[in-house]
Amino acid sequence: MITYLVKPGELVLKGGNKKMFEAVLRRNLALRLKGSGAVITTARGRWYVTAPDDMLEKTEFALSRLLGISGWARARVCAKESGALFNACAEEARGLAARGVKTFKVEARRTDKSFPLDSYQICCEAGDAVTGAFPSLSVDVKNPESVIQVEIRERAFVYAVANKGLMGLPVGSAGRGLVLLSGGIDSPVAAYLMARRGMRVEAVYFHAYPYTSDEARKKVVSLAGIAGAYTMGIRLHTVGFTPVQLRIKEKAPSPWTTVLLRMAMMECSELLARREKIKCLITGESLSQVASQTVENIAAIESRLSLPVLRPLIGMDKDDIITMARTIGTYDTSILPYEDCCVIFSPSHPVLRATVEEANRLYESLDASALITEALNGAAVDKCGFA
Ligand code: ATP
Ligand code: MG
Repeated sequence: MITYLVKPGELVLKGGNKKMFEAVLRRNLALRLKGSGAVITTARGRWYVTAPDDMLEKTEFALSRLLGISGWARARVCAKESGALFNACAEEARGLAARGVKTFKVEARRTDKSFPLDSYQICCEAGDAVTGAFPSLSVDVKNPESVIQVEIRERAFVYAVANKGLMGLPVGSAGRGLVLLSGGIDSPVAAYLMARRGMRVEAVYFHAYPYTSDEARKKVVSLAGIAGAYTMGIRLHTVGFTPVQLRIKEKAPSPWTTVLLRMAMMECSELLARREKIKCLITGESLSQVASQTVENIAAIESRLSLPVLRPLIGMDKDDIITMARTIGTYDTSILPYEDCCVIFSPSHPVLRATVEEANRLYESLDASALITEALNGAAVDKCGFA
């Protein structure tokens, strides 16, 4: 069996809500580990996961994507007896020496005060045991390359590699949002950021077959799968939007097509959100990134809505968004070269400063509501990234 120590994150600060957050976090972890034979236990603010050896990959995949924890580590478990403890330290040190690490220190915590050595003595004696076994390693208490952690609790735990958790809040602790998911770089990051604040997300993708290929749709399904590993799964609604786009192309002045298409997507998304009892919309918009993302156009695009629209990327630089997309693993899929419906229908000189009045006058002249409802009724649902 392999054992992991898991540290819950910010939720420990949430006072009265602490119990609720912990229950949600625990349920999420259990769901991600379902069927693996892993067991979660808690004792004094610490969580332990014990999993069968062949479930290492699955367990680490889950822990590295679990929102709401501040850290996790795979630990050696040994008897509370100094010989066994120092051996375990030396075994951890073997890995460090093999990686070319030169300096280390031992840090010890002792919850069980009946253990005969105090923390300071544990550090000194374990340090000696390690340098005795691996002379290439030396102790540096001020600025070590690695730290061997020793915890004396119900049993003794030793680990040298501590992984940072993703922090944030457990998914399912902050309501539900509907993300407008395109195949681009931004919207998967937007979904992740809202999930990191505890929001459960569903997604809607507007497909313009045959102007956009089935590959473009599959790309969005893969993106939802990658993001879904963090968000506890994503239900992806794919809406065939070709008739609406053709109506816009036929009836609207070309510079207005992008703004009007966004308005139509928003109207459809709001209908879907109401049907699914979802309380807000989420987009990957970022101020001034493209022509449709001026503050005037954003005002026009949301002018017919009553649900709030959350735009977690609105003030972020593209570079920072890309860095985050790489970190969560969506970037390489996002840049696959399948065309985006909006690119095909986009005008060469889009309106940059739409007025709400003009946008609404043109939008109403499209008379697209019936087309939008029909498109929504034909939507398909994929379950992406569930454990
Ligand atoms: P992204 O990288 O997320 O595609 P973008 O920089 O390409 O964003 P736009 O194309 O202007 O920006 O889209 C703005 C937002 O509108 C997107 O982040 C997304 O939330 C939504 N959106 C655009 N196209 C679609 C689509 N086909 N289906 C669903 N949502 C879409
Ligand atoms: Mg896009």
